[in-house]
Amino acid sequence: MTNPAECAFCRIVAGQADAILVLQDERVTAFMDAHPVTTGHVLVVPNRHAGDLLALDEDSARALLPAAQRVAEALRRSGVPCDGVNLLLADGTVAGQTVFHVHLHVIPRTRGDGFGLRRPLGSLRSPGRSALETTAAAIRAGLRSAGTPREAE
Ligand SMILES: [Zn+2]
Repeated sequence: MTNPAECAFCRIVAGQADAILVLQDERVTAFMDAHPVTTGHVLVVPNRHAGDLLALDEDSARALLPAAQRVAEALRRSGVPCDGVNLLLADGTVAGQTVFHVHLHVIPRTRGDGFGLRRPLGSLRSPGRSALETTAAAIRAGLRSAGTPREAE
């Protein structure tokens, strides 16, 4: 795990690294992605360091989505081209996470902007009820072993 003192996003939150902020409160900071995929691409991060989703405390987690929602609304009012928004959280290297301080991408979208997520070939066909049930059972078992109270029956 990254030492928060050496974490690029912790340094931005603390005002010790250069970033262009759009929002900051006691729980979250939102700033311009230095390498935007579309114009207006903003990152929303918890002020408290969490290297990945599992390390994120609930208080910070609860603050992230409302902040992203405010940024998304602001984008639509800003004059920045924005006909839709993608929220994206990459958790883990294989998912595309490159900075190991949890961050939620707020990506304004317009038709033909060239950004997108690709589905694997063949994934448009449903695996069928039985396969979905088997996978759901495995996930519910994972929820029980993690002691999560919000599992569906
Ligand atoms: Zn950090």
